[in-house]
Amino acid sequence: MNEQNKNDRAGWLVGPPAQCSVPPGESKSPWRLVLLGAPGVGKGTQADRLRGRLGACHLSTGDVFRAAGSRDACDQTPVMKSAIEYMRRGALVPDTTVWEMVRERSACIRCGGGFILDGFPRTLAQAEALKEHMESERLSLSAVVNYELPLAEIVARLSGRRTCEKCKAVFHVTTQPPKEEGVCDRCGGRLFQREDDRPESITVRLEAYERSTAPLIQFYKDLGLLVSVPADGSPDEICENTVTALDALHLSEDRLH
Ligand SMILES: [Zn+2]
Repeated sequence: MNEQNKNDRAGWLVGPPAQCSVPPGESKSPWRLVLLGAPGVGKGTQADRLRGRLGACHLSTGDVFRAAGSRDACDQTPVMKSAIEYMRRGALVPDTTVWEMVRERSACIRCGGGFILDGFPRTLAQAEALKEHMESERLSLSAVVNYELPLAEIVARLSGRRTCEKCKAVFHVTTQPPKEEGVCDRCGGRLFQREDDRPESITVRLEAYERSTAPLIQFYKDLGLLVSVPADGSPDEICENTVTALDALHLSEDRLH
């Protein structure tokens, strides 16, 4: 287990004044990445693998929300309290609130170990706020990785999921089938398809994702930061292709200088 894996990421998950148990070492040229990709492309898995390969911290906004939800309300900053309130109502957390939450954690953006942002930015406004903030800190992104998968493939992946009624274990009809059809391996509970995993709901979610991220993709393309990686194949293959694509982008940049 390396130092990175021992890090509890408190600086990110809890936010200041909390500090990481094992601050990452300063890297000469730290990777500062943003990962984009629709639900179902396996972005979280890749973020985790890239952390191992590149040494940069995985900064997931989803993880911050989950960590906040399990802590005492009086430990929360006003921004976190407001974000949790939106989520409790099932509403989307507004751009400005998400940005404030990230800004509270700007030590992670400055961190000499670099970062892999996952779940942020999600809109053009957030991307512009991040760019402005990084410029004021004399920092810049190394690249933005966009994981691409045809819509039909994403629908097939997500609509094959089956969840256990009792223990909530997740199976997949083709890639991870239970030993007995419709029955949970772990507890014998009945497997069902969550409302969210029905093809109609998936299509609606994906269309919403496309609408909000299309301008974001164009924004990073114009800045020469966008790296597109096909999200098919095994997680190892996808990770390898990502690292190759990142190296290629940086080699071409070095030639320009
Ligand atoms: Zn079960």
